[in-house]
Amino acid sequence: MSKTITCDVAVLGGGPGGYTAAFRAADLGKQVVLIEKEERIGGVCLNEGCIPSKTLLHAAEVIAEAREAEAYGLKYSAPEINIEKLREKKADIVTKLTGGLAGLAKARKVEILRGFGRFTGKRLLVVEGEGGITSVAFEKAIIAVGSSPMELPFLPKDARIWDSADALALPFIPARLAVLGGGIIGLEMAQVYASLGSKVTIIEMLGQIIPAADADLVRPLAAKLKKTYEAVLTSTKLTGVEAGKHSLKISLEGEKAPASIEADALLVAVGRRPNTADMGFEDIGVKTDGKGFIQVNERMETDVPGIHAVGDAVGNPMLAHKAVHEGKTAAESASGLKSAFTPMSIPSVAYTDPEIAWVGYTEKQAKSEGVSYEKGSFPWGASGRALSADKDYGTTKALFDTGSGRIIGAGIVGARAGDLIAEAALAIEMGADAEDIGGTVHAHPTFAETLAFAAESAAGTITDALPSRKSKIS
Ligand code: FAD
Repeated sequence: MSKTITCDVAVLGGGPGGYTAAFRAADLGKQVVLIEKEERIGGVCLNEGCIPSKTLLHAAEVIAEAREAEAYGLKYSAPEINIEKLREKKADIVTKLTGGLAGLAKARKVEILRGFGRFTGKRLLVVEGEGGITSVAFEKAIIAVGSSPMELPFLPKDARIWDSADALALPFIPARLAVLGGGIIGLEMAQVYASLGSKVTIIEMLGQIIPAADADLVRPLAAKLKKTYEAVLTSTKLTGVEAGKHSLKISLEGEKAPASIEADALLVAVGRRPNTADMGFEDIGVKTDGKGFIQVNERMETDVPGIHAVGDAVGNPMLAHKAVHEGKTAAESASGLKSAFTPMSIPSVAYTDPEIAWVGYTEKQAKSEGVSYEKGSFPWGASGRALSADKDYGTTKALFDTGSGRIIGAGIVGARAGDLIAEAALAIEMGADAEDIGGTVHAHPTFAETLAFAAESAAGTITDALPSRKSKIS
């Protein structure tokens, strides 16, 4: 059976970029159809990314906190882990959130059309779903088709070789888990499995885990993992996997790496690629770059007038909060508003233990681009709050442009770094300088005041530690 529907705005893909675009366009008075091939909207983020991973990481955090409480005279026995219950809890949270989104769509009269969508013309999409084929004639379209895990074609097909979605499903707890890729996704999943009892080995091709972050921020995490994991093999290449009956034999190349290791499961977390093939984009003139990312301008417009694109499909960083903001811009732009996506910075967070977060310039980026900056940093060993919570291994640093004095970047390693980085992002967006941040009264004792102390350190006005330079305020 085939039918045709018309709408003002068709959104292809119901992840954070797509549902945000659909909701904003509806709020701007547009009649919207949101096309999603999966049963539930929410995309990777809600169904097999941000939310399930943070749910499992919460369980890991509780286990770690209970263990670390012994230092306070609180000794708990080892937890009894009920994997079925943990899976159920994760599923409940995802259902609650995706159900909430479906409710928000209904309240806004956004029609959700289930099926796989393809462009067959510059104003026409064809959607194949359970209910048959639907042609969607639109005025404007927003592409938000997201990304998928990168696969390594030389690896054997084996149920013990996982991508991040497989790992999040908690198929079983391997006694020995190897993780290929020491980036954020690999390390977050490693943390979950390590806390559930797996002996973890990280295999990372570059010289540092979380290669994008500054080395000083990564150091406390690397030190902790070195103590608690089987091995963290940096500068190491995986060259092959033999799937044996009882285990996987993983061949390695690297100066300090063994020639091979045995594991009971291997998580491959080597990056993601945009889902931009086979959807008719090229046929209608939507251009992609060499890596398959759709090319857009700051109004999220593709080369085809009236067709916008957002989220993971348009490039890095592949993060839900980037997709959401781009989705709003695309909806506003498609609705005739003069919107553009021009943020000063986009924060990155590794929800590891300790968390690592950075925003704006990293030091390595500033150095490589020849940007002159002054740094203020505050070691958490001098923070009353961090000491009280036994989290004194953290650091907060802020970078200020030498010429204008404005903050251009910040990095934090320590408890709740992912939450704390928001203040630095706001400061960058508002063009704050060290005096603005240091002069803002922060509650004491909080982890948040460490950003103010880092700013005071740059301004030379700090009293909670020795000033590293003469005060600029006299
Ligand atoms: P997606 O979420 O990928 O959604 C795209 C949607 O389009 C999907 O639902 C897909 O089914 C649908 N679709 C694709 N093609 C078609 C088609 N032809 N027809 C119909 N439907 C189609 N980001 C963060 O910011 N914070 C985190 O903590 C975080 N953790 C993560 C953890 C993991 C394990 C992973 C894998 C990712 C994580 N991310 C995180 C990244 C985040 O999930 C993505 O950046 C975000 O989901 C991108 O949103 P999107 O809307 O661009 O695409």
